[in-house]
Amino acid sequence: MRNLCIVGLQWGDEGKGKIVDFYADRFEGVVRYNGGSNAGHTIVIGGRMFVFHLLPSGYLKKKKLLIGPGVALDPLTLDGELQLVRNEGGEADLLIDERCTLVTPFEKQMDAFIETLRGENALGTTKRGIGPSYAMRALRLTPRAGDLVNGTFDMDAAISFYKTFMKDLPDLGPWKEESRKVLAGRTGNVGESIMAMNEAGHSVLFEGAQGVLLDLVYGTYPYVTGAHTIANYVPAGLGIPNTSLGDVMGVAKAYTTRVGGGPFPTEILGETGEKIRTEGKEYGATTGRPRRVGWLDLVGLKYAVRLNGVSELALTKLDILAKVKEMKVCIAYSIDGEETSNFSRALPKLAAAKPVYMDMPSFFGVELREHQLPGPAQNLVEFLENELKVKVTLVSMGEERSATMKRHA
Ligand code: GDP
Repeated sequence: MRNLCIVGLQWGDEGKGKIVDFYADRFEGVVRYNGGSNAGHTIVIGGRMFVFHLLPSGYLKKKKLLIGPGVALDPLTLDGELQLVRNEGGEADLLIDERCTLVTPFEKQMDAFIETLRGENALGTTKRGIGPSYAMRALRLTPRAGDLVNGTFDMDAAISFYKTFMKDLPDLGPWKEESRKVLAGRTGNVGESIMAMNEAGHSVLFEGAQGVLLDLVYGTYPYVTGAHTIANYVPAGLGIPNTSLGDVMGVAKAYTTRVGGGPFPTEILGETGEKIRTEGKEYGATTGRPRRVGWLDLVGLKYAVRLNGVSELALTKLDILAKVKEMKVCIAYSIDGEETSNFSRALPKLAAAKPVYMDMPSFFGVELREHQLPGPAQNLVEFLENELKVKVTLVSMGEERSATMKRHA
């Protein structure tokens, strides 16, 4: 069996955690390849909610967990998650790549500092220090996991740099000591480990964080995250051959959400938006912030499917559409009087894009069950398959692990 990457096709929060958990059984390991603790993956089992920011969602299926070098790692956040796992009587089988960029307290302070400088144009980052940590990596001013464990990195240059613009820098000593304890005995080479599993005939699942439209280069810049979110980054983010990427499953919500600032052509303001937000519990898993809500955007989805080489789709949160009377899908944008369904072309002027909608049969009041899709839901799924030229293999209609329907083998 091939490896599989699960990637969010919108602005994150598509429900990837649930889908990773659903598929994890078939794989030997679950691997994080990008982002940091600004991600929040939620899984609900028997009414109990688990939220992971760094620990791969495969934990609940007792899989080998790997955090690759493309991740910005905050050791203390990870420690909190490992502690939660221990409180449950469990122990995570975790390997952290020695080349992971670390997030120190300095980068968190810098994140907040830069957001303040932006004033009303703040990006709305989670202030978890992820963007600054990647930036400091590019400047060669932050330690990697292995550097901290081996004591081979000198922070003097970084401290001098920070002192030029930030006051009251925290003492890094306690952070170093704590972080070393978290990392000790857990670091190694994740790429080598994945290749060894593959060579032994076992596959792994790559768990993406955030979504395609938040990619640092290919998203709605500057309102993006500090990392690559696309599946194309898997080989580079892990140090494995391109041929090991395997299949790509895209996860999309049946509507759209986005956290923080930035253009959002299908945003719904007013009562319907509020209803979807409340029913869909659209509040950030990391920050608790209300998410902005909009109709499904086919223009963005087509872009994401094509760019990532998506081979199959998981569609989530169909149950939420059963709570609202209307149902629309955006099929094109109108920008300065011209219509386009090409997202790349629209991107520079996305703030001016007006959605062109197609009205779809409403789901209002229909009951969604695990084994059959009622007419309007079936209609939406087939419409997406036709437009996107990929099969919708999984439909999610509730937050519980069991509220999931497999449509194709
Ligand atoms: P992720 O970052 O992509 O894993 O997404 P989040 O975990 O931040 O957000 C997804 C939220 O939607 C979580 O609270 C999930 O429990 C929930 N969820 C996932 N699939 C469904 C679904 O089909 N219906 C409903 N109602 N909730 C879902």
